Amino acid sequence: MVDLSQKIIGYDLWHLELPVTSRRDHGIGSVEGVCEVVILRLTSEDGSQGYGEASPWSVFTGTPEATYAALDRYLRPLVMGARVADRAAIMSRAAYAVAHCTEAKAALETALLDLTGRISAVPVWSLLGGKCRDTIPLSCSVANPDFAQDIDLLARLQDDGVRIVKLKTGFKDHAFDIMRLEYLAKQYPQFSVRVDYNQGLTIEDAPAQVRDVAQFNPDFIEQPVRAHQYGMMARLRQLTDVPLLADESVFGPEDMERAAREGMCDGVSVKIMKSGGITRGQTVARVAAAHGLSAYGGDMFEAGLAHLAGTHMIAATPEITLGCEFYQASYFLAEDILEEPFEIKQGHVVVPDGPGLGGRPDVAKLDHYAVSRVVGG
Ligand SMILES: [Mg+2]
Repeated sequence: MVDLSQKIIGYDLWHLELPVTSRRDHGIGSVEGVCEVVILRLTSEDGSQGYGEASPWSVFTGTPEATYAALDRYLRPLVMGARVADRAAIMSRAAYAVAHCTEAKAALETALLDLTGRISAVPVWSLLGGKCRDTIPLSCSVANPDFAQDIDLLARLQDDGVRIVKLKTGFKDHAFDIMRLEYLAKQYPQFSVRVDYNQGLTIEDAPAQVRDVAQFNPDFIEQPVRAHQYGMMARLRQLTDVPLLADESVFGPEDMERAAREGMCDGVSVKIMKSGGITRGQTVARVAAAHGLSAYGGDMFEAGLAHLAGTHMIAATPEITLGCEFYQASYFLAEDILEEPFEIKQGHVVVPDGPGLGGRPDVAKLDHYAVSRVVGG
């Protein structure tokens, strides 16, 4: 019998440093050497377990240290001894127990959903409203300062059936961005190309450079200027017919409402690490859709566990229409943490049908890559 009244009696944490295979430059900063994530494991009275991942980035959402402290010190007391059934109450208390730390809240909600799904023997997407798609088109980012290495990556993507690439721009100079756009247009006309500045342009340079890039007719141009420069975002949106997407400017539903009201964007990148969990991410997409704006499934520098959480969100959210960018587990990490590889077929992420998230981390890998942990706490 399914018993969701049982209590949560185990709360384990790992802070991981995962080696990566290349350098990635974005408008707001770089990642090289390792990417850092925090893994949470919940255990209930019958021995069932649920996992969640927090994937912070210091220049964007927050630090791994703050994420770890939020989960270990501030959220643990809300969860230990609580009933599995009371997910909404736990998340409501978590929202006020610690400010910000959206990645920690995303990990907590993911672990609660995974645990509920495992106990109930249903996939997480069924707990989020049911499924609207079986596969999700994958976008892979081109972000290496050494473009020769990205040329090799593009050939691999072509072979793998991936047909969407996102060019990361605004970290070097305009000529470098235009050169790469020309290369893509000439060598890979079959690819859909998206452009993401990650806040990399100054307000002085942004209008001219955005107009230049728009001539390549990308699917969209994302976040050219700083997150708080709302007026500039609205102005840039008026300059071209290419849709302007908000990423760093929109974390949760409250930001989305404001962005829509102020005419700041044509669409939004929905990320569970920004919104503070899957259900708030769904709300971001629904607020956007209510205003006639589009949405796609973005991510941070994540391992496969967070990809799975995002996959279940998109599987259950018809409003997220522009695919996803869950490429890191397959194309960036030296080794992912999942027991079974995060599944991508013909350039599409496959939505799992197994209980919970449909995949779980290999605990030996968690122990191997941990720089700190609290297990058995
Ligand atoms: Mg972005």
